[in-house]
Amino acid sequence: MASPPHIAVIPTPGMGHLIPLGEFAKKLHRFHGVTTTFILPNDGPLSAAQSAFFAALPAAVDHLLLPPVSFDDLAPDTKIETRICLTITRSLAAIRSAVAALHESKNLAALVVDLFGTDAFDVSRELHIPSYIFYPSTAMALCMFLNLPELDKTVSSEYRDLPEKIKFPGCTPLHGGDLFEPAQDRTNDAYKWAIHQMKRYRLADGIVLNSFKEMEPGPIEYLLQEEKGKPRVYPIGPIIKMGPKPEDDSSCPCSKWLDDQPSGSVLYVSFGSGGTLSRDQIIELASGLEMSEQRFLWVLRLPNDALSNATYFNVSSKGDPMAFLPEGFIERTKGRGLVVPFWAPQAQILAHGSTGAFLTHCGWNSILESITNGVPMIAWPLYAEQKMNAVILHEDAKVAIRVHPREDGLVDRVQITNVVKGLMEGEEGKGIRSRAKDLKDAASRTLSENGASMKFLNDLASKWKSGTTST
Ligand code: UDP
Repeated sequence: MASPPHIAVIPTPGMGHLIPLGEFAKKLHRFHGVTTTFILPNDGPLSAAQSAFFAALPAAVDHLLLPPVSFDDLAPDTKIETRICLTITRSLAAIRSAVAALHESKNLAALVVDLFGTDAFDVSRELHIPSYIFYPSTAMALCMFLNLPELDKTVSSEYRDLPEKIKFPGCTPLHGGDLFEPAQDRTNDAYKWAIHQMKRYRLADGIVLNSFKEMEPGPIEYLLQEEKGKPRVYPIGPIIKMGPKPEDDSSCPCSKWLDDQPSGSVLYVSFGSGGTLSRDQIIELASGLEMSEQRFLWVLRLPNDALSNATYFNVSSKGDPMAFLPEGFIERTKGRGLVVPFWAPQAQILAHGSTGAFLTHCGWNSILESITNGVPMIAWPLYAEQKMNAVILHEDAKVAIRVHPREDGLVDRVQITNVVKGLMEGEEGKGIRSRAKDLKDAASRTLSENGASMKFLNDLASKWKSGTTST
């Protein structure tokens, strides 16, 4: 009998990408015996979170670290998307040697790259290894990726200045200002790199997507239609973090505190692994939470205007975020509010029966974790493609209320009080909660044995087992 397929995966370093890729690799092994090697381009040693992540993977999922690339020549304000793309292009020789050696010993069934990793297709195509993309974000964002290069040719202004909304196939029309961050400044290298990647998407033999039909019916229907030059898409989501996680620190007071709160009464507040607020925004949020009189569990970071070099990959954990709360806030909200500095076991919190809603920065993993637990949301997008995700939540799936910053960028305390009360106890909240429960059921169905996402995963694994590349 032929040995099960082995694949190589080249991820980008953010935890929001590594976590679903790790779960994808585990799932491939559990259901299909597929084994994986992560090949890690980098610009320095792994962070503690990354090291813990790789250490916790099972034996079937191996990893190897490439030599670090140097970014000494880059301007300090070089955007993250540019850095990610350069990490790959500057590692291409090392990627070539690593992939060739793995192919020699294990006969690779596929090379899978992440969002901005398509330059590695130079290697897979040269070695005749099928080339795949794991798309860790939404179907809507993927529709944009496949179609923005065409729009780029016809629009000359900034997208945010267009008077009309932009319509990508299958998607709700979007304000230019809601497009993902690199498209907000077309003169920046980050935009040029993004367009470069998007054009190369059509080179892929397939795109694995972390979403599912009931969550994004329109975009997924478009993605599944056959179209010349459009790679086959496999919507296998929702893939979320499962089982015990390295960072689920038993010393975190969250679970114990939640145990003592009434069912569905707590608003969980968190801005993902990299999101930070300004000092003024922290004051407004604290005041809004206090005025709402609701229970809350808030993961608090240092304000971004107090950080010297916060990075997306490594949010600083030096200093005391509590010092930036309004005076007396902790005492006044004692009993009904818990503030946790820096990091909390989010998956556990969202799964806890006392958690009734989630104020989120709209990172896709956070959204999928919330949906999987039937938890309705307040959408407070910050960066990357999060404004597009807020449109999906608020306008399409209708499982969230969206906040709207004022002209000066602040979301003020009155608005915060209103949305929190509106979701936790208002009429609007009832409908949103009920739709969140419906989506939870749909997510569970699509992942079940005969569910659509499971079938797409089976199709993909069969293709890799049979060694075919055709779409
Ligand atoms: N996360 C967590 N605890 C925190 C903050 C984040 O466990 O205090 C996890 C969260 O559960 C999710 C991931 O980090 O799996 C964040 O990914 P997401 O796509 O939501 O946002 P990003 O951090 O990539 O902006």
